[in-house]
Amino acid sequence: MKNETTRPVKAHCPICEQHTDPNNRHYPFCSERCKTIDLGRWVDEKYKITRPIEQRDLEEGVD
Ligand SMILES: [Zn+2]
Repeated sequence: MKNETTRPVKAHCPICEQHTDPNNRHYPFCSERCKTIDLGRWVDEKYKITRPIEQRDLEEGVD
């Protein structure tokens, strides 16, 4: 058995499931491309959720 204090962190890109690690500047993604895809997903979700929130904001704005 070797020194186990430096265990390699195994991680997989949540987009394409390729291997990635914390040393990757795009971690937890494997590449900028996957990072952008994930960001796009969030922006898309936010956009959908924003609609009802806008209505609430209007109600709060009405005094
Ligand atoms: Zn990826």
